Amino acid sequence: MPDAHRAVVLAGPTAVGKGTLAAHIREHQPDVWVSVSMTTRAPRPGEVDGVHYHFVSPAQFDDLVARGELLEWAVVHGRNRYGTPRQPVLDALAAGRMALLEIDLQGARQVRRTMPEALFVFLAPPSWEELVHRLVGRGTEDAAERERRLATAKVELAAQREFDVTIVNDDVRRAADELVHLMRTH
Ligand code: 5GP
Repeated sequence: MPDAHRAVVLAGPTAVGKGTLAAHIREHQPDVWVSVSMTTRAPRPGEVDGVHYHFVSPAQFDDLVARGELLEWAVVHGRNRYGTPRQPVLDALAAGRMALLEIDLQGARQVRRTMPEALFVFLAPPSWEELVHRLVGRGTEDAAERERRLATAKVELAAQREFDVTIVNDDVRRAADELVHLMRTH
């Protein structure tokens, strides 16, 4: 299949804006197929089952894992499980579509092992200060929680070197254009 697209995996540190970027592409780029993840977390207001996520119970998630139906999965933020259904990704690629997976770093590392031909894109903050600002916000967390988040962010930023390409999320529209251009040209 000489024209086959590679799956594109988008990951990056917490609070860098991966979800917003993926949502923007889902809304404005109909020729990009965006993977819909399974999650055990509860829907937030405005989230639609089957559009933003497939919301499942822990038992249903266990079942998907046991059947080997997930391309990757991880416990994110020590709380809920998230995973990418394998077959829809394979179907989208087989249909010649550009496929985007917005997942966390642990998930990206699993895809690196099982689908090494994918293109791995790291979404980086414009600066460390900006990431700190987005993470810590207006300082509603206590000092210990702030320290914990910043320590995690440092480790996550260091993962950049594991990726093929870095896109800086300075502006969601500009970053989306760069990502889609990358998908088209790869
Ligand atoms: P949220 O609960 O805010 O929608 O997402 C929390 C985190 O879960 C984000 O960092 C997002 O990248 C990650 N995530 C969403 N879907 C998946 C998935 O299918 N697999 C993995 N490994 N992480 C995911």
